[in-house]
Amino acid sequence: MPATASTVGAVSPGAVSPGAVSTGTAGAGEVPAARGNIVIVGGGLAGFTTAQELRKYGFDGRVTIIDPEGIPYDRPPLSKEYLDGSMTAAKIAFVPDDWYRDNDVELVTDAVVGLRPDEGLLELAGGRTYSAATTVLALGGRARTLPIPGGDLPGLLQLRTRADADELRARIVPGARIAIIGAGLIGAEVASTAAKDGATVTLIDPVPVPLVPLVGAELAVRLHDMHAAHGVDVRCAMTTAITQQGAEYTITLSDGASITADTVLVAVGIVPQTGLAERAGLATDQGILVDEAHCTSHPAVYAAGDVARVRRADGTVLRRHEHWESATHGGQNVAAALLGRPLPEHGASWMWSDRYGVHVEAVGDMVNGTPIVRTVDGVPVAAFRMESDGRMIGAATIDGGTAVRAARRIIDRGLIVDPQQLADPSVELKKLAR
Ligand SMILES: Cc1cc2nc3c(=O)[nH]c(=O)nc-3n(C[C@H](O)[C@H](O)[C@H](O)COP(=O)(O)OP(=O)(O)OC[C@H]3O[C@@H](n4cnc5c(N)ncnc54)[C@H](O)[C@@H]3O)c2cc1C
Repeated sequence: MPATASTVGAVSPGAVSPGAVSTGTAGAGEVPAARGNIVIVGGGLAGFTTAQELRKYGFDGRVTIIDPEGIPYDRPPLSKEYLDGSMTAAKIAFVPDDWYRDNDVELVTDAVVGLRPDEGLLELAGGRTYSAATTVLALGGRARTLPIPGGDLPGLLQLRTRADADELRARIVPGARIAIIGAGLIGAEVASTAAKDGATVTLIDPVPVPLVPLVGAELAVRLHDMHAAHGVDVRCAMTTAITQQGAEYTITLSDGASITADTVLVAVGIVPQTGLAERAGLATDQGILVDEAHCTSHPAVYAAGDVARVRRADGTVLRRHEHWESATHGGQNVAAALLGRPLPEHGASWMWSDRYGVHVEAVGDMVNGTPIVRTVDGVPVAAFRMESDGRMIGAATIDGGTAVRAARRIIDRGLIVDPQQLADPSVELKKLAR
């Protein structure tokens, strides 16, 4: 199992391997990967996808993934099936361990602490230096902390890694008092899992109805109401302080209430890991700035996934995505750019989430345009966003995966659809997508 550091590609401090391409000579159009080794920093979804795509399309140079977490694994199950114990660590690995040997992808279990793009050098926490013709930064994000008194207490939990999920899992037992600060996607999923497993859950968020920008108001209300219906104590307030007395935490809220808990999970979003790029002099703006080929401001460094933010040729800086599919797409784009292949076309962005046995999906833009809601017996099951010319720009469903796939085709093809048919639950969306 090639999960530990090997000496392939490693050079002593200060040295440059013969295969390294120095600064300024490599660019997307010149297929730099064809001339040297590729080192991927971060073995999450974007980093792993980059390696997988490079091999899929026949790149035969050296590929290395460096990540302190070792064997790459998928994160969405950490708040779902892995957290409730129905999926094992082996099952959340992207591929079986022998894939790395069979595909000659080297895994190095270490963290990169320094990057010198002009020299093609990476410095590892363990003290070694690696050379790279091309570096791909797929560093993801770190959990945001609360800037309040007690926000830095060491016992507060977060959920980004498998180790975080293991720690949380051990605390989700019947009767345990679990407070979750943040009712976004991850907070809501953990609340659902913890409530199902018999914990006493309090869910705190200052936003009365979270997720409106992702799924629209009607579906967001239905989703948020599920917490209370499943016995979760939902509090709409700011968290202003956290204190600890022995094993017990007290959370003070802006409405004057206080909550006591055995476990506190802080799930208030992520901060992109831009520090390495900033220290290396790469352009950043709440994310590592990349062009549409995912090349950073240095021609030998690419970035993808949660950490990357696309700046178009006209200077428009796009919103950074923090979803599974966009991390996959980022990795695909990097590999295509490095191999000189046409960039894949991805269409409208898509995400999903699960809670209390229901499956939520959303595609495209659920913020702009005019809303149309589809209800069954008065219960909203799907929502759409329409431009004034009749084009759909966004769609979201609860337990409606087929409809979302059809909506995605409608959006990507720019089809004009009849709003009345969209609102009518008897009309199958796939008929409108033809
Ligand atoms: C609990 C959870 C549930 C989620 N559920 C969903 C969902 O239901 N639907 C959905 O669409 N999305 C979901 N997501 C989001 C999705 O998983 C992320 O968008 C995706 O993992 C991003 O991939 P990434 O490769 O950019 O970053 P990550 O997966 O975060 O990987 C980054 C990697 O970089 C490594 N790294 C960081 N710094 C260094 C360094 N200095 N040196 C070396 N390596 C480093 C880290 O160890 C990490 O392994 C979820 C995320 C989490 C955490």
